[in-house]
Amino acid sequence: MSIPFLTLDSHVDTLERALDAALDLRRENRDLACLDLPRMEAGLLWSACFTAFLPQGPLTEDARCTALGRAEAMWDILDALAVSAPERCGRARNPRELRNLHAQGRRALVACMENSYPLGQDLTTLDRVAARGLAYLTLCHQGANWVCGSNLEPHQGLTAFGRQLVIRLNQLGIMVDISHASERSAWEALERSEAPVIASHSSCKALCDHRRNLPDDLIRAIAHSGGVVQLCAYGPFLRSGAGENEASVSDFVDHLEHAISLVGVEHVGIGSDFDGGGGLSDCPDASHLPRITEELLRRGHGEAHLKQIWGANFLRTWDEALRLANGSHPHP
Ligand SMILES: [Zn+2]
Repeated sequence: MSIPFLTLDSHVDTLERALDAALDLRRENRDLACLDLPRMEAGLLWSACFTAFLPQGPLTEDARCTALGRAEAMWDILDALAVSAPERCGRARNPRELRNLHAQGRRALVACMENSYPLGQDLTTLDRVAARGLAYLTLCHQGANWVCGSNLEPHQGLTAFGRQLVIRLNQLGIMVDISHASERSAWEALERSEAPVIASHSSCKALCDHRRNLPDDLIRAIAHSGGVVQLCAYGPFLRSGAGENEASVSDFVDHLEHAISLVGVEHVGIGSDFDGGGGLSDCPDASHLPRITEELLRRGHGEAHLKQIWGANFLRTWDEALRLANGSHPHP
């Protein structure tokens, strides 16, 4: 089946694999990664948010600088990929560029950052990396940093610096991502942020009681902010007792439909977490993503729903973040 409409996966960790194993993402890297250009093309995936994933390290200046260097190296890989295969893909620094690439039949590569740790407590570093055209910043990974508590520290919220950072993200038009954050941090980010807040890769706690998943009231609050919850295809988030690659497309779509039942189809999307542990028994890599579409069709979702779930909601939120930022800070 062909999917002519725009599709977007809001969270893939492929750049870390590419950096550490020197992968050429123009070629298929089966057994080494879940996503590359050939499998985006085979899976009818038009765009993906490539995160610079930085695991939480010690809160020291040396370790922070090393993490920032790795982030820059990962974004360099993305830039080089676009330059080396211009007929197949390009970098998208905003939704307009992304839609233009899709109209030209080219894959759109979006840069993001998973963990604010490399920024330290210095907003000028954020301003500098913002020039990469980041769509969102995930406030933390697994472990508290200078910005907030993670899901491992449920009672820790935003720090004083974290509150400043949220406002600066608003001014830059970079979306605030609360995946991995503690619930308290997420609520405080929602209260603080003047722009819509997102969860780039999280699933529903009501269906699977995992500390990384979102309770119903938090899903409602993200939607109320105008944001999106991008359901994550990571087995342990989808079904209790499931390991990586052990949950199915049907389990995944159960989470999508639960979120839709809470907040409507306008506030949900897909963040596979490929190469960060994501993958389903019957959708182990990007080439199999149409199986999610087939399951949605089988359950009665029409093309309008498919377009919203597969990227239109995420792009509307990104548009809104940039619109609100306009005037306070120019964005490329
Ligand atoms: Zn993650």
